[in-house]
Amino acid sequence: MQRVFSGAQPTGNLHLGNYLGAIRNWVALQNDFECIYCVVDLHAITVWQEPGELRANIRELAASMIASGIDPEKHILFNQSQVSAHAELAWIFNCVARIGWLNRMTQFKEKAGKHRENASLGLYAYPSLMAADILAYKATHVPVGEDQKQHLELTRDIATKFNNDFSAEDFFPLPEPLILGPATRVMSLRDGSKKMSKSDSSDMARINMTDDADTLAKKIRKAKTDAEPLPSEADGLEGRPEARNLVTIYAALMDKPVADVLAEHGGTQFSGFKQALTDVVVDKLAPITEEMARLKNDPSYIDAVLAKGAERADAIAQPILREVKEVVGFLNR
Ligand code: ATP
Ligand code: MG
Repeated sequence: MQRVFSGAQPTGNLHLGNYLGAIRNWVALQNDFECIYCVVDLHAITVWQEPGELRANIRELAASMIASGIDPEKHILFNQSQVSAHAELAWIFNCVARIGWLNRMTQFKEKAGKHRENASLGLYAYPSLMAADILAYKATHVPVGEDQKQHLELTRDIATKFNNDFSAEDFFPLPEPLILGPATRVMSLRDGSKKMSKSDSSDMARINMTDDADTLAKKIRKAKTDAEPLPSEADGLEGRPEARNLVTIYAALMDKPVADVLAEHGGTQFSGFKQALTDVVVDKLAPITEEMARLKNDPSYIDAVLAKGAERADAIAQPILREVKEVVGFLNR
């Protein structure tokens, strides 16, 4: 069976982009693939995380996945730092990947900002750890948002170079991206040219999965738009990134094509459309938010799910890591 791997960082502020661009698709893939989903805490600490908050965010992310419909019995849900193969394989990949390849990564440039010398070495090596996440399971398919496409290409480059360097043809499969759904890139509510992001300093830019109905209504009411009413056809969204974003979110949540949404709402003012959008967002997120709140009161259940998941992940990754060590020329115990 084909194997899917994907991960999300426990950095708090889980938002609608994470849900529409990742978690919701992960739920759907469970019907057709063997799925391995990971709370990537090793990635999270590439930027400073307060330890108490990190612990809470790990549990919250796992809870959001379960509340959204990820089945930890049929598939695997675990926490990255509990399976040592990720860090071990990442080191080997640090020695396979070239500095020139990493220098091209746009996420590093964005996240490191102007003071690149002050960024952690881990932030720079992040894509090499991501390659290890995927290849430790020889995953064949990786659902990724647009923002992770470049990193997945690097994973393929690392796999190819490893296979060539060690004359181990086909040792690692070249994982395929699965870019799914109409909302692969949900944009900020304040700036239609920036993606909705956990790390955006403005909470108003984001629809959080834990926001209550009043907060959602306020954020959507205040979302940036232009003065024109909604167009009736998709090409009318050209050059109107904020309008496009709100329509795309609505369409994704309703499971409808954008064209149908515009056929229905074309000509209406944003004030009216924002009300309709609020109703849909509240309707779709409320059951998940409620279940997350329930799970928050049961941390020992979450910890048990993650522990069981780590055991099962380890059972797949360890034999692959042993083979890697053999190929590289290390002695296995
Ligand atoms: P950060 O900005 O700190 O990197 P993030 O919001 O990108 O946080 P991640 O944990 O890096 O969150 O990403 C988790 C998953 O959510 C990834 O699969 C990523 O592609 C997806 N994702 C993140 N932001 C968006 C977005 N705005 N639209 C669609 N998908 C997104
Ligand atoms: Mg990200």
